[in-house]
Formats: sequence, C-alpha cells, structure tokens
Amino acid sequence: MSIKDNIAKLKNELPDHVTLVAVSKTKPGEAIMEAYEAGHRIFGENKVQEMVQKWEELPKDIEWHMIGHLQRNKVRYMAGFVSLIHGVDSLKLLEEIEKQGKKHDRTIPCLLQMHIAEEETKFGLDVPELEALLESNEFKMMEHVKIVGLMGMATFTENQQQIRKEFANLRSIFENLKERLPYIHILSMGMSGDYQIAMEQGSTMIRIGSSIFGARN
Ligand SMILES: *Cc1c(COP(=O)(O)O)cnc(C)c1O
Repeated sequence: MSIKDNIAKLKNELPDHVTLVAVSKTKPGEAIMEAYEAGHRIFGENKVQEMVQKWEELPKDIEWHMIGHLQRNKVRYMAGFVSLIHGVDSLKLLEEIEKQGKKHDRTIPCLLQMHIAEEETKFGLDVPELEALLESNEFKMMEHVKIVGLMGMATFTENQQQIRKEFANLRSIFENLKERLPYIHILSMGMSGDYQIAMEQGSTMIRIGSSIFGARN
C-alpha cells in the first residue's frame, strides 16, 4: 500500500479525540510530501538537525513534533518553530526550553516523558520526579514553556498484558494530573506496534512511523 493509503486507513481507525503524528524520521522529503498531499500536517522527528533541515525545505504549514530524546544544546535550533516537544524529562532541559522560548518570544508546548517501561534504558521521569519538577520554583516561574500533557513508551515486548498495564499506569498518572492542572490534555502513547492497546487505554495522540512510511533501515 502507498503512504497515502496507509494514512487514510489509519485515520479511519482513529476516534476524533486521537491525533495522529506521522513519524517521518530517516524518511526523505518526498515521502513526507506524499502524506502532506493526502492532507496530513503533523510530523514527528527524533533528531533536531534532521527536523530543521526538513522544516527549511518543506511547506511551512507543517507542524513539527520533536519526539526523540533531546539534548539541551540542540534546543535553540528548533525553538522558533517546533510545535510540540514530547520527550522532556528534566528540569534542566525545561529551563533551556524556557530560555530559548523567551528568545523567540513564544511559549513552547511540551509533554513530560514518564518512565513506564521495564527496560532500564528508556528515558523518562518517575512519579516522585514528576512531582518534584512541578513543585519546583524554577518551574513555577516559567512563562515560555507550557506543559500540556504526558508522553510514554511501553516496554518492547510481545506481551500485550504488560503493555496494557504500562499504558494503564500512564493513563492514571495523566488523569491525576489533569484534575490538578486543567490545561493538561494530551496523552502521547502508542506506536505502530502498540497503538491499538494505547488507544484502548486512553491515548489522545499516537506516534506512527513504520505503519505509514514502511520499515526504517
Ligand atoms: C520512532 C519512534 C516512533 C515510531 O515508531 P514506529 O514503530 O515506526 O511506529 C514513535 N515514538 C518514538 C519516540 C519514536 O522514536
């Protein structure tokens, strides 16, 4: 099937409250343009340099989401145009986003990444770290970042019960937070292999790469 068909098929499956981020990392501009011409506008990248290059070359009404692990020294390259940063997992990183947002005179929407998987290697905050960040004075003073939700990645496993349990855990952290901070409304969870479980568990934003663009090398 073509990229266009893949997008159409996916969008057909999604309820209205779930947003599709087409993960175009490693894929060329032509592939993105095929999705664009099918009406899609939201794309996710995991490397700042690659995202900046694509932003420069492609239509300006594309919304670019940074979904990967982000180094502080790279924030400034995308601070002027990035639509949503999914992977914020430290106060230090948030402070840099604040600084760069201020420079560009804009407020940058961010998701805090939670560690929900079993693997040691997955990035993210645990609940006490989330609380500490939200309670910090540094955070409370920020005017150029806006935390609009949470993001998480489940363990890479065939075990659907485990994936379901991890997503359910993230959902409950999300619901909890939403009660205290009413502007929290995005729960980014679900990739090609697990988005159905993620949606069943309350995801409002899925990040799909290979099911749209094909396998990556
Ligand atoms: C690559 C990536 C995706 C998309 O993965 P697929 O399995 O190709 O859908 C989603 N989220 C993050 C954080 C990624 O790095």
